[in-house]
Amino acid sequence: MSQHASRLGGLRGRSHIPFGAPSHQRLRRIPRRPRRIAMLSVHTSPLHQPGTGDAGGMNVYIVELARRLAAIDIEVEIFTRATTAALPPAVELAPGVLVRHVDAGPYEGLAKEDLPAQLCAFTHGVMQAWAGHRPGHYDLVHSHYWLSGHVGWLAAERWGVPLVHAMHTMAKVKNAALAAGDTPEPAARVIGEQQIVRAADRLIANTAEEAEELVRHYEAARELVAVVHPGVNLDRFRPADGRAAARARLGLPADALIPLFAGRIQPLKAPDILLHAVAHLLEEDPSLRERMVVPVVGGPSGSGLAKPEGLHKLAARLGICDVVRFRPPCAQDELADWYRAASVLVMPSYSESFGLVAIEAQACGTPVVAASVGGLPVAVRDGVSGTLIDGHDPADYARALRPFAQDPGRADRMGAAAAGHAQDFGWDTAAAATAEVYTEAMRERRRLRSAHG
Ligand code: UDP
Repeated sequence: MSQHASRLGGLRGRSHIPFGAPSHQRLRRIPRRPRRIAMLSVHTSPLHQPGTGDAGGMNVYIVELARRLAAIDIEVEIFTRATTAALPPAVELAPGVLVRHVDAGPYEGLAKEDLPAQLCAFTHGVMQAWAGHRPGHYDLVHSHYWLSGHVGWLAAERWGVPLVHAMHTMAKVKNAALAAGDTPEPAARVIGEQQIVRAADRLIANTAEEAEELVRHYEAARELVAVVHPGVNLDRFRPADGRAAARARLGLPADALIPLFAGRIQPLKAPDILLHAVAHLLEEDPSLRERMVVPVVGGPSGSGLAKPEGLHKLAARLGICDVVRFRPPCAQDELADWYRAASVLVMPSYSESFGLVAIEAQACGTPVVAASVGGLPVAVRDGVSGTLIDGHDPADYARALRPFAQDPGRADRMGAAAAGHAQDFGWDTAAAATAEVYTEAMRERRRLRSAHG
């Protein structure tokens, strides 16, 4: 069946009995734009601390997007798997944004890889919540990551509403750029992603490159993929009182060279390349050791969980334990101070769907040295707000960091340009563009309904 035909779902006659909405659902008036949506985040909660485990940019994305949607009168109910017994069934995250905890499997002890076996239980929980409401409670489903996409596929079809899906990361893209020795994503995920691409009314990609990947790797229909750049919370991430004041608050030396890593610690993010680059710099110029601090803020995640001490051991092997400071994941208000304090944020990632930390650091007035992968060429203006590097040779990263050591004014000059560049990435803009995608998906539904009776 073509993707177009599959999207018609219960709206058009099929050879089999459609698993569509009951007639009272399907025939209700479709509003111009959604008043309330069901947002699905199966494997990670918007209430979790990002920067470790399964919590990262997607959690931040969902929180910020949901708040801004609610502010423009689109109520959001976020469904996520309950991971402790103590959680209430529903928590108000902000006015107009409700987080619903769904029982699906044991609270603890399940890894993300175990969750495909819990999707039926999760879907059951979503359907139970829906059954307690009047028909037409949700006007649209917006699912995040492929696991949620599968729940969304069924829920949207059952409710007779559009499914909008965001992949965040894709198995085929990750597998094409694995760090040496990293574990590939399983074939079952690839198949699952292909099914969602066929089922979704609209796909939201972070960048034009991600949209191309959806078309190239998953045969998405180009006209159904919308590009919406994620945003940055410009109230929280701003230069504020500047680098010197942030360093004083964090107890960091005023004149140090501070290349910062922030995010989930796993091979994909390649913090090891930063450590190798630092070792290069110190070998070339041992006097730097006196004025160098390398903070690594975040906790183990993904395949990094198998060797949580790996990065500490590498620092020891490279003889740079005296300059590297490991810090646990912290709240974004504190992270903003780490960004401000740094001379430069370093992101040697192998793949990155967007890389929120890049735009957050820039919003705080700090330039970025990043691998030229995924969304990073959009997030960073090469030569203006930072430096993009092809490949993952630590010597290239050392070369990009050296000018920051030689010219202490560089961080401030590039940082000012970075703060300017970040202004283009507000969440209000992202939410308005997302609401437009919803409106289009609903317009298409109305058109199909009137065309097919
Ligand atoms: N983050 C945080 N505390 C930390 C480290 C990271 O709140 O200690 C947040 C950070 O602000 C960012 C997100 O985690 O919004 C990471 O997003 P990114 O897109 O960079 O990476 P992802 O986790 O999606 O791979």
